[in-house]
Amino acid sequence: MNAFADLLIIGAGPAGMAAALAAAPSGARIVVLDDNPLPGGQIWRDGPQASLPAQARAMRERMAACANIRHCPATRVIASAGAKALLVEDPERGWTLAYDKLILCTGARELLLPFPGWTLPGVTGAGGLQALIKGGVPVHGERLVIAGSGPLLLASAATARHNGAQVLRIAEQASRAAVAGFAAQLPRWPRKWLQSFALFDRHYRTASHVVAVLGSHRVEGVRLHQQGKIVEIECERLACGFGLIPNTQLGQALGYALDGQALAVDAWQAASLADHYAAGECTGFGGSELALVEGRIAGLAAVGEQDAARRLWPTRARWQGFARALHHAFALDPALKTLAADDTLVCRCEDVPYAALAQHRQWREAKLATRCGMGACQGRVCGGATAHLFGWQAPAPRPPFSPARIQTLLSLDEQPPA
Ligand SMILES: Cc1cc2nc3c(=O)[nH]c(=O)nc-3n(C[C@H](O)[C@H](O)[C@H](O)COP(=O)(O)OP(=O)(O)OC[C@H]3O[C@@H](n4cnc5c(N)ncnc54)[C@H](O)[C@@H]3O)c2cc1C
Repeated sequence: MNAFADLLIIGAGPAGMAAALAAAPSGARIVVLDDNPLPGGQIWRDGPQASLPAQARAMRERMAACANIRHCPATRVIASAGAKALLVEDPERGWTLAYDKLILCTGARELLLPFPGWTLPGVTGAGGLQALIKGGVPVHGERLVIAGSGPLLLASAATARHNGAQVLRIAEQASRAAVAGFAAQLPRWPRKWLQSFALFDRHYRTASHVVAVLGSHRVEGVRLHQQGKIVEIECERLACGFGLIPNTQLGQALGYALDGQALAVDAWQAASLADHYAAGECTGFGGSELALVEGRIAGLAAVGEQDAARRLWPTRARWQGFARALHHAFALDPALKTLAADDTLVCRCEDVPYAALAQHRQWREAKLATRCGMGACQGRVCGGATAHLFGWQAPAPRPPFSPARIQTLLSLDEQPPA
């Protein structure tokens, strides 16, 4: 099956939904494709234990009411299928989707750093735990430690508490001065300021990070470096994430240029390729408000509504200020690069320990010698970790970008050459 979109949007998080809604009045045929079953992305992830805010519900309803927006849930991009065409797959079939304009809104994922015991059952990312809980995993009565860096730790703690868990400690690696400096700036963004009161937790400690997980078959406790002292806390779960890293893999594979770790865009959210745009956290971490306004600008610019897009620049600048404050306050302490021991697995899919990687100079060399990044996650976890630990830049992925059915891959042969 072949299909065509005037505007294809990949990712139905806040940025993708905002882009689709902003572009819809133009009458363009819009397709929004996302690998999750329901729109909302990370922050508005749905599930049996999730409660969606009114804004998310309203955006979903508006999207469903637009006859020219088609949402393709549970759909993944498998490969490029020539110029301005992608091979995609949903649970039933593979098909080719051609487009005139493309906006990537692929979001961000957590940075997970290796430390002794991080592969034991009961250890997850901080946002990962939140996603599991929203998806229905029971945590009622469990004792939890949440560690790492950034406001996501507090959001994850709030979700866990709301679902009956006992949060014993929230260990933030940033210094007290850095977090206090960030808090002092929050009145510039009143909604965030108010949110911070709701999220406040008396178990929050700055200048604290995980050292090791205790337990042989699953988590029995956590050893923390807490404000200059070593403390041990008995618990059933550790949720640990060190901030977010942009999902740039698809953009890189399509030929988008990078700006540091994120997809490079100009003031219109246009990428380095003609007719290709990017918005939201694949262009850099900054929170849902920034993702929303970037999505709107990209959607408007893609359908030729430059004046309307320009009017949103001041709002974007305001939220870019928030993003800068976040990056500054929660910059990672270089000490976190020394958490892994020689035998700590860095690539958990292929069982590759830290010592086997440390002797290499770059990602490709390490991958060929050790199989690091060649397992089920295809480097999405260890690629972020090795970028942080060793400064390696993973090259653009090669197709298939995710596991696909043979039938889907065979249909590539039927495509005319680019
Ligand atoms: C695990 C996690 C939990 C978070 N929880 C919170 C929170 O509670 N509060 C908060 O303020 N912020 C939270 N954040 C930050 C949050 O991601 C952003 O504020 C906001 O959701 C960014 O919006 P976005 O549209 O840029 O990306 P996202 O919301 O990440 O949406 C991107 C969407 O694109 C899809 N996608 C990506 N690549 C592909 C592909 N190749 N093919 C198909 N679909 C694809 C993803 O599955 C996702 O649905 C969380 C982040 C993460 C990683």
